[in-house]
Amino acid sequence: MKITVVGTGYVGLVTGTCFAETGNNVTCVDIDANKVKKLSSGQITIYEPGLEKLFERNQKEGRLHFTTDLAEGIKDARIIFLALPTPPGEDGSADLSYILGVADQLGKLLTDYKVIVDKSTVPVGTADKVHAAIAKHGVTDFDVVSNPEFLREGVAVEDFMKPDRVVIGTTSERAQKIMNELYAPFVRQGNPILFMDEKSAELTKYAANSFLATKITFMNEIAILCEKLGADVDMVRRGIGSDDRIGKRFLFPGIGYGGSCFPKDVQALVKSSEEVNYNFRILNAVTDVNEKQKLFLLPKIEAYFSNNLKGKHFALWGLAFKPNTDDIREAPALYIIDALVAAGATVTVFDPEAMENVKRVIGDKVKYADHQYECLQGANALIIATEWSVFRTPDFDAITGTLQHKVIFDGRNLFDVKRMQELGFHYESVGRQAAT
Ligand code: NAD
Repeated sequence: MKITVVGTGYVGLVTGTCFAETGNNVTCVDIDANKVKKLSSGQITIYEPGLEKLFERNQKEGRLHFTTDLAEGIKDARIIFLALPTPPGEDGSADLSYILGVADQLGKLLTDYKVIVDKSTVPVGTADKVHAAIAKHGVTDFDVVSNPEFLREGVAVEDFMKPDRVVIGTTSERAQKIMNELYAPFVRQGNPILFMDEKSAELTKYAANSFLATKITFMNEIAILCEKLGADVDMVRRGIGSDDRIGKRFLFPGIGYGGSCFPKDVQALVKSSEEVNYNFRILNAVTDVNEKQKLFLLPKIEAYFSNNLKGKHFALWGLAFKPNTDDIREAPALYIIDALVAAGATVTVFDPEAMENVKRVIGDKVKYADHQYECLQGANALIIATEWSVFRTPDFDAITGTLQHKVIFDGRNLFDVKRMQELGFHYESVGRQAAT
């Protein structure tokens, strides 16, 4: 099948590459000429485990193309995916200008039947708006389908190739048949393709992300309570996670969720609710708790240094909003850096993949280390903000030998508290008693 993917970011590039991997002929369109130039010359633009190999193979075998020209990109395509940004607008609602802008362009270009697919996360009613934006140009032979994406950055290729489920919102039988054919290779193990109406599909994505954000936030509040009551959140987590109704996943407390999806999607669902005169109280609380959670370590750090961070120097491990990605959108690490620098401290950072992105955003606000141990030179304490595997079993002798003081503030509970006590560290984490 000939497919076009408009928007070649985290979702678009994975979507395009994975569809090429099952034999489709894919053209990815992006307005960022620099990105298209790089991709066309075989240079991958995001870090995503496993993606590069598929990208290289499919490009070499002529199934994956890149262009900035929408008209050229959609030529002969049967399906056009919109994998465009839907950032929060000023009032928190999803900004649909990218989606509707491209829909308007498509209205001027379509000449034969095509399926237009909303892959982006979009509020209920967007499929109708996309339909109207195209139809106003007099085009009638097309369908608009809502097909939200559930991939997780860091395991995006695996998620895309073997999805738990594929959600397809359309009432058109013709579009259903085409989408079914396209996705059949991805659900061979028996996971379902769930067909539903457009609105239910659109809401499914927001409900999923909001539920997950709520689950994390609930655990973060339990962690706060654990510290106050003298309990250990690791024990509580195991205690509740073994109940099938709760499940083991997504129960790890930390310094809040970040990324390009949860914060904006929770906000957008609150806004959609307000538009129909409903106050989604739980989600307002989730956002509120999460904002505070990003700076959860700060009072601990301040208390340890007697409320005077001026002239103190910190090493910070982990910048990406989660491991195995270079994505730093809404990353808690950036909030911690801001707070430390505002308090007069200096910071040296290390991240296995996200340093270039951070340099682009905050420049010389911090120093950048080439190695995780080099990062510790002259620091009064180490702060851990992302749970990269490479931080999990570090060389504690190297840490002891390089840090000025044996002090670690761990926002991701990487180490055993008892062990840290034995090693003589002052160690504070989330929802567990401190080792001193
Ligand atoms: P992104 O910012 O990484 O990529 C968007 C791409 O669209 C960019 O390359 C940009 O240059 C391009 N673009 C902007 N305007 C364009 C235009 N007019 N024509 C062509 N290209 C244009 O965004 P993303 O993370 O891939 O997210 C895309 C959508 O998917 C969002 O709605 C997001 O909520 C949703 N989503 C994201 C994830 C994720 O993990 N990142 C997961 C599921 C769903």
